[in-house]
Amino acid sequence: MTLTLLSLAGDGIGPEITAATERVAATACARFGVALAIERAEIGFPALAATGTTIPDAVIDRARAVDGVILGPVSHNAYPPVAEGGRNPSGVLRKALGLYSNIRPARSHPAVKTPTGHAVDMVVVRENLEGFYADRNMEVGPGEFMPTPDLALAVRKITRENSLAIARAGFALARRRGAKTVTVIHKANVLRLSDGLFLDCTRAVAADYPGIAVEELLVDAAAALLVRDPARFEVLIATNMFGDILSDLAAELAGGLGLAASLNHGDTHAVAQAQHGSAPSIAGQDRANPGSLIGSAAMLLAHLGHAGPAAAIWAALDAALADPATRTQDLGGTAGTRAMTEAILRHIAEQA
Ligand code: ATP
Ligand code: MG
Repeated sequence: MTLTLLSLAGDGIGPEITAATERVAATACARFGVALAIERAEIGFPALAATGTTIPDAVIDRARAVDGVILGPVSHNAYPPVAEGGRNPSGVLRKALGLYSNIRPARSHPAVKTPTGHAVDMVVVRENLEGFYADRNMEVGPGEFMPTPDLALAVRKITRENSLAIARAGFALARRRGAKTVTVIHKANVLRLSDGLFLDCTRAVAADYPGIAVEELLVDAAAALLVRDPARFEVLIATNMFGDILSDLAAELAGGLGLAASLNHGDTHAVAQAQHGSAPSIAGQDRANPGSLIGSAAMLLAHLGHAGPAAAIWAALDAALADPATRTQDLGGTAGTRAMTEAILRHIAEQA
């Protein structure tokens, strides 16, 4: 059976890192006898120019039909907001495919300096479909609105259903990783109802995992502790915006956004996506670190049941990171995007 992935290049550094990721996924799958077909479609600025929307409905339909998606970064968030057509492709896909869970690992590499000097190996499990994200809360009314020209309000939606779903995803992942502790991130001292409901749900799920200790931590305290003692964290479960912010912090603590992989998944679909944005300032210069999206693709392959190619990609990525000559400048290396990709391909080919 052929595994079909849809690759969406996006904007900025997107085309460079998706091209690299496609080659790495194809090579790893070939080594393990997994038949892989990669389809491509346009999103972001090219799609906006050609079709009037940053993510055409036909692309959403293809994303639904394939086994998985490789999603490049898109520069959607210009302010003031792009009126019609400027929708956020990643928000749209997360909603359309029911991707309630965003798994964001942060793992340091021995050869890559970390800002605090600590080794880091944690995963942020972030709710993906509600919280303070206006574009995902439209069904409860406008997610943001201005009752007067001098007052802007934003709505934060927390449901029992999604809080239970993200807690289940987080604890299941903790068990698979053999984690001893799960840290639940909240701000229930001021968001009593919404984070109160979220905490209730994580406690209900935690009861099914008596072997795992649970630590409930205020998001502000978590930010401080992440910097002071990142090694204490194994799996963090968080609502959407807190998880978004802390995962960038965790990624930097592990060595930088250039390595920050992530997987969006629900019960039926999955999308690989780097944690960072489109980094337009380095686009088209062969400077982007492809590791973030390549790692994301490895997570996608593992999620789809192809543990062999996934592990081969992680091992090859680690091998490339070990040598400054085969890692990019953001990690203190000298390689360009293409040279780092070639090194990863070479390491996959050389694996026993
Ligand atoms: P966007 O508006 O799409 O979010 P951005 O410029 O904010 O774009 P981010 O991706 O959020 O870009 O990243 C912020 C900075 O981190 C970039 O300007 C870049 O310097 C660095 N960065 C992010 N991703 C990478 C990468 N893959 N390789 C190298 N540097 C990166
Ligand atoms: Mg950004």
